[in-house]
Amino acid sequence: MNPVDYTPQGPVAVLTLQNPPVNGLGHALRSGIVAGVDRALADPAITAIVITGSDQFFSGGADVREFGTPRSSMSPHLPDVIRALENAGKPVVAAIAGHALGGGLELALGCHFRVALQSATLGLPEVKLGLLPGAGGTQRLPRAIGLEAALNMIVSGAPQKAAAFEGTGLLDQVVDGDVVAAAVAFAQKAAADKTPLKRLRDVKLPTAGADAFLQFARTSVKAAAKGLPAPLACVEAVADSVTQPFDEGLRRERAAFFALMNTPESRAARHVFAAERAAGKLPDIPADTPLRPIRTVGVVGAGTMGGGITMNFLNVGTPVVLLETSQEALDRGLATIRRNYETSAKRGKLTAEQVEQRMGLITPTLSYDSFQDVDLVIEAVFEQMDVKEKVFTQLDAVCKPGAILASNTSYLDINKIAGFTRRPQDVLGLHFFSPANVMKLLEIVRGAQTAKDVMATALALGKQIRKVSVVSGVCDGFIGNRMVARYGAAANALIVAGASPQQIDQALEKFGFAMGPFRMGDLAGLDIGWATRKRKAAEAGVPHDPTVADKLCELGRFGQKTGAGWYRYEPGVRNALPDPVVDQVVAEYRSAKGVTPRKISDEEIVQRCVFAMVNEAARILDEGIAVRASDVDLVYLNGYGFPAHRGGPMCYANEVGLFNVVRTLRGFAAEPGAFDWWAPAPLLRKLAEEGQSFA
Ligand code: NAD
Repeated sequence: MNPVDYTPQGPVAVLTLQNPPVNGLGHALRSGIVAGVDRALADPAITAIVITGSDQFFSGGADVREFGTPRSSMSPHLPDVIRALENAGKPVVAAIAGHALGGGLELALGCHFRVALQSATLGLPEVKLGLLPGAGGTQRLPRAIGLEAALNMIVSGAPQKAAAFEGTGLLDQVVDGDVVAAAVAFAQKAAADKTPLKRLRDVKLPTAGADAFLQFARTSVKAAAKGLPAPLACVEAVADSVTQPFDEGLRRERAAFFALMNTPESRAARHVFAAERAAGKLPDIPADTPLRPIRTVGVVGAGTMGGGITMNFLNVGTPVVLLETSQEALDRGLATIRRNYETSAKRGKLTAEQVEQRMGLITPTLSYDSFQDVDLVIEAVFEQMDVKEKVFTQLDAVCKPGAILASNTSYLDINKIAGFTRRPQDVLGLHFFSPANVMKLLEIVRGAQTAKDVMATALALGKQIRKVSVVSGVCDGFIGNRMVARYGAAANALIVAGASPQQIDQALEKFGFAMGPFRMGDLAGLDIGWATRKRKAAEAGVPHDPTVADKLCELGRFGQKTGAGWYRYEPGVRNALPDPVVDQVVAEYRSAKGVTPRKISDEEIVQRCVFAMVNEAARILDEGIAVRASDVDLVYLNGYGFPAHRGGPMCYANEVGLFNVVRTLRGFAAEPGAFDWWAPAPLLRKLAEEGQSFA
């Protein structure tokens, strides 16, 4: 397919961008536009030019597939293309349907006139990738819609509907129906009437009041940006549109764009963007694998997780059969779901009618017979293998052939669970995170025998219920909980060595974690980990050696739910308050172990906690449990509150340099009595030796 179709409609040349799926402005498209414009200018029969895209995308901006390849830096660059449009001696009109985003909108801003469909969306979302619009957007948009509106749009990165720009210099016409026909008519008339060509570069912005507004913008954006460089750089670039001549503004914008490209924050944001596109692609499962239809879902257990999981499906209109062991448990579960929806209704997010619609999609039941027709069952009962066995034996007996049987287990062996059925190919893990109706992450756990179409169906389902899905192999805790176990062990060891829960939480929160490990532990409940550690000791046939957390559990301190854990809590308040009882338990523990506490720096706290996870993740990758390092990052960003601007633990390790990570780990491993897991994982060592990063 020709990247730019050239079709004359009477005296108007219509240039249609054809680079699916989003009309990314790759090299072929950039060259094609310039060639089309030159052809139209050279043809005396052509009096005007219309540039348009597809129904869905005028253009989504840069072509991400070209990133990091030589083509991305090949002439013509986008600013060259825009200059060619702007300098054209015949009217150039953009006909915008669908999305005009980033470079796509900048391209349109280079045209003399713009006609858009009412439903089209326009935006400059570069700030979300830690960047600013680098092809004139910060200079032309203020000249089109005014300083304040442009600044808001560029700093927020939020796209807006075309209808919002009716009557501004951004859109000359907002239409319903055939946008190309409207643009052709507009172009023809502009040529016939000899309408002066409008070049945004020629607009002079009023300076009155600009200084005061920009000062206010700098202060408020600085406060909201939390140290991220891009939002403030956006403000400065937009300020140049008033204070600098146009060409100088362009030059400074381009320089700021390249400076931002080199910040760790932008590298992290672009890494996450690419990670989200790569996740869910499995090397051995073709994209066109036929899917099993999922029209109705069964959920076993209406507790904390079962209720949240159910809501995911109700939210997208899928009916759910919800099973419990007693009417009382069922009523409790239903009441919780209703309460959650009613809270959303009170906040104006749902209407009362929508609440009833969603509740109406639930079929409550106490009998497995109700599962005869469901296409997928997700089990969310107690975390005990014997209970899982009972459930899966019954599911196997009643569910129709081809129904997918999933477990929400956090740690247990999916292969063993699959073995309770006569259809292990239909069994997998669907590991949601709490609260399941809120958290974005879904770990899709692939059993040894899980069929390919079951995996493909689960991945499609994850998209449908708007989760970030990451595939994990079977191991204790899968990707996330297996790594968090090391993170927790490192944090606990720091307590024994001399740090306090407050110091550790604060150091990690300063690093950017939403919540430190001890506040998080108190929120989740310390009893779960206690039970797991006792179970693991029993399975390994060794006596259970209680940790400090276990000592707290022995005192009935399970966290917020019992009013005390690593901290104490006043009734009805979630503030974590330091507790002398904890200091006492810790001091006794240290003296029983013969430890003299030492002073520990915040930097060491971050290194130990984060590198412990990175090291475990390297083993997870080596074992093939995770498909790619960026999948690990998505798990941590979406399920465990890892700071978004650091791009996840693996991206952070790359920034630090794997050589430095290995060197630090070696230091920890060499300490007397060190855990054996501090030894750098073979994959980490290999990459560091070869001077490489996690891909
Ligand atoms: P929960 O105790 O809140 O709920 C379990 C529910 O299952 C209860 O309502 C119970 O009545 C019901 N139940 C027990 N046996 C049953 C049976 N045989 N048939 C039908 N219903 C039965 O537990 P939860 O926190 O929702 O955890 C459920 C599962 O989800 C566990 O495997 C857990 O490891 C996993 N999980 C929990 C979390 C979390 O943060 N709570 C996160 C991810 C995964």
